[in-house]
Amino acid sequence: MLDHNRTIGENGRNLVLTEDNIGLRAELTVDDEETVTAARAGRLKGWSFGMENALGDYSKASDGTYKREISKLDLVEVSLLTKRPAYHATSIELRDGADVETRTADDLPEVSAEELEQINQFTRGRMKAEDVYVFPVRLCDNEIDRDGERFSLGALSKLAELYVGKTGIFDHDAKSDNQTARIFHAEAIIDSSKRTSYGELYAELIAKAYMIRTAANADLIKEIEGGIKKEVSVGCCVAKNTCSVCGADRWKKPCEHIKGKIYDGVICCGILEEPTDAYEWSFVAVPAQPSAGVTKTYTESDALDKIKAMIATRQREIEILKLKGKM
Ligand SMILES: [Zn+2]
Repeated sequence: MLDHNRTIGENGRNLVLTEDNIGLRAELTVDDEETVTAARAGRLKGWSFGMENALGDYSKASDGTYKREISKLDLVEVSLLTKRPAYHATSIELRDGADVETRTADDLPEVSAEELEQINQFTRGRMKAEDVYVFPVRLCDNEIDRDGERFSLGALSKLAELYVGKTGIFDHDAKSDNQTARIFHAEAIIDSSKRTSYGELYAELIAKAYMIRTAANADLIKEIEGGIKKEVSVGCCVAKNTCSVCGADRWKKPCEHIKGKIYDGVICCGILEEPTDAYEWSFVAVPAQPSAGVTKTYTESDALDKIKAMIATRQREIEILKLKGKM
């Protein structure tokens, strides 16, 4: 199943369950679209299984915790997980009134040969799989944000290109080299099972980032693994901000339509198009929020050019003043 709630495989059809010298082994040939999409985006975090009618005994350990040793169980299902469980230890779930226990196998984060190849384009020396830590980052999506603006699908694809190679900073120690990660792959992924509030297919920009494993960032890696670092803030530059109602470029020629209002069934928002640059991304720790959120910041290309021009003008003025002997 996927996340203990939807069947994606059947024993004998595309699933083979065996027991090897480590334990239960599951081999699944996946044809489910959602699962394939999640796997491609690096969103599969591990696997677990559900069981019923477990027989066993509890014993109290010296540290006061209880250990349950199970001698017999009925295997209900095995699941691929898109969410990393909060605890790697056993958790208990109640489903349909039956006591179903979920156990999770620790998965070692693996780096594929293809990923390593992509990473090595950015490193000075050649890295081995055990030298790097790879994790997925959800940068942004095409939903209307708190400013009444959204990215077009084309903009998300362009941002995917622009974000490759960009470094990310972790909030608590931005100065240290140990606290930076670099995006080595990014992709706009369409979720065909979901629609945006304005009725188009939902898409999100998913990136894969790596960090060089060091003793100094071991704790940070644990925090990312545990899902504590969730919110990512991104900054980018877009050339166009089009009105979804009349198509006017809101920056060049403002129209009378008001964001959030509905005109003939069309919700007014600004469509951000033609990204020209992407900046560093940063992680913000928000352990209290259950779902990952994204803060978008963007700058109008023209405005940025104007600022640059202003700075240049100021420098020229200073030079002129220096020439005149006033500074
Ligand atoms: Zn308009």
